[in-house]
Amino acid sequence: MKILVTGGCGFVGGHLCELLVAKGHQVVALDNLLTGSLQNVAALKGNAAFRFVKGDVMDAKKVDRLVKEADAVFHLASIVGVKLVIDEPVKTIETIAEGTRIVLAACRKYMKKVLVTSTSEVYGKGIRVPFTEDDDTVLGATSIRRWAYSNAKAMDEFLALAHYHEAKLPVVVVRLFNTVGPRQTGMYGMVVPRFVKAALEGRDITVYDNGKQSRCFCHVADVVKALEKLLLHTPKAYGQVINIGNPTEITMNALAKTIKAQLKSKSKIVHISYAEAYNDGGFEDMRRRVPSIEKAKKMLADGKLPEGVHHPSYDVLIAFL
Ligand code: UDP
Repeated sequence: MKILVTGGCGFVGGHLCELLVAKGHQVVALDNLLTGSLQNVAALKGNAAFRFVKGDVMDAKKVDRLVKEADAVFHLASIVGVKLVIDEPVKTIETIAEGTRIVLAACRKYMKKVLVTSTSEVYGKGIRVPFTEDDDTVLGATSIRRWAYSNAKAMDEFLALAHYHEAKLPVVVVRLFNTVGPRQTGMYGMVVPRFVKAALEGRDITVYDNGKQSRCFCHVADVVKALEKLLLHTPKAYGQVINIGNPTEITMNALAKTIKAQLKSKSKIVHISYAEAYNDGGFEDMRRRVPSIEKAKKMLADGKLPEGVHHPSYDVLIAFL
């Protein structure tokens, strides 16, 4: 198959391109390299089954041409990381809402199957965990910039489902929960690579707030297997919203301690307030964020996430050494 991956040079995108090429597909990665990097697809350099196209999902002409040539589209291009969302709110909203509108319009025009990556941020401040796909979303005030990201992603979901409703566009919406793995950068706020890098360099490991907030981390290798399987082999997933993540929870205090211990680091674990971490009021954290993966397990024929990692995937730390 010919497959287009938007955001193909991002952290998740690079792993997805590798998987798709390994499965014998012809892959085109469209990426503007804003947060993506050619290092994420370095293993595919010179491979005849892989092509990198530098460009933006806001370029409707380019997207139209690439979608027309493809048999299936994975739409991963987005703004990445809490830090960018807070610092560049206009770009965040425009890339997510307009970029996805353009990609979906082209997929509808040529009736190409498409997977849209959404986010667990869509659940917002929901406190009833685990989060199931049909739960109400609890999004914060529009004066808090973080919520622009969630709202824009929610609008992407509405639009994807609207195309399914109106035209039976084969579209799958996936809500990704925290994903970790080799090559992830901490530059845009991701906590695991930030803690690992600090621990390796002997700098303070900086936990925000009281560190009792928790997250669930899924290995990227499991995530991309689920994405591939859902779009290419699971027609009953079309028109559906599906959580993909690891349901095992860990607090940021425990994460910091584990990373420090595993790396035998001399770093100090320190706590700072959210206000110090993010400079001003553009931020509000979620305390817990746990996926229900019952629907994913049902959708994926064998009843479990592909080689699901159902415990925190700390083996990932090795990759940073
Ligand atoms: N966090 C932290 N120190 C950091 C970066 C993040 O304590 O250097 C916390 C953050 O407040 C949040 C959690 O780690 O509670 C996960 O943050 P991340 O930005 O990785 O992902 P998200 O908030 O989108 O789940």
